[in-house]
Amino acid sequence: MIEVRELTKSYGGVLAVDRLSFRVEPGHVTGFLGPNGAGKSTTMRMILGLDAPTSGEALVHGRRYATFRRPMREVGALLDADAVHGGRRASDHLMCLARANDIGATRVAEVLETVGLTSVARREIGGFSLGMRQRLGIAAALLGDPKVLMFDEPVNGLDPDGVRWIRRLMRSLAEEGRTVLLSSHLMSEMAVTADHVLIIGRGRLIADTTVAELTGRYPSLEDAYIDLTAGSVEFGAAR
Ligand code: ADP
Repeated sequence: MIEVRELTKSYGGVLAVDRLSFRVEPGHVTGFLGPNGAGKSTTMRMILGLDAPTSGEALVHGRRYATFRRPMREVGALLDADAVHGGRRASDHLMCLARANDIGATRVAEVLETVGLTSVARREIGGFSLGMRQRLGIAAALLGDPKVLMFDEPVNGLDPDGVRWIRRLMRSLAEEGRTVLLSSHLMSEMAVTADHVLIIGRGRLIADTTVAELTGRYPSLEDAYIDLTAGSVEFGAAR
């Protein structure tokens, strides 16, 4: 479970995250939605201890990320598919992460298989397409078999087969009882992938509800999203 309490982050006076409180429960895919600049990545970074909150707290299983001895076994995350060393082979990259978390080589082979990269495991990451880098990032997130997973825009750069694969993967991870937090701007995809949604705008919580509730009130999840975030878009065009 992920729990965020009164979480706040300001960058030189700019409030990126503003007293945000929510819980992400296991057994569901929870969509994390909001316009560009809403604070989604900053929130995910604080949950992972990559950024320190200005105030408030972000907890995983009731603890701060920094207190876990083998964090990849607790939380897996794909935040930025490009945050990898291009000169490394895919398998070496994963082996490095595995070693630091007491994870064996068999598991590296397993996650490579899960994400469909077995045949290119010995290739350098620098030659990978964005879609392949996304798959590698997902492999890294799954490495420690964690109960909590976060994915920031995982369908970026994926072809329709890849998008469908992500949808099924997210759903099966949730069905296994894991906590899955997923950000995406593709509302049609989110509507068929997520059970629950958190919508934020300008760092604040706008909605914390089920997809079914929103699609019952609006013609589609996209209509709900557009209406609810109307006051929060950074570069709004006339609608
Ligand atoms: P999202 O992921 O929803 O697009 P972000 O969390 O990336 O939003 O950004 C939220 C706000 O915080 C934006 O206004 C962004 O410009 C600002 N921001 C994010 N990271 C930094 C940083 N390292 N330094 C200064 N401002 C930042």
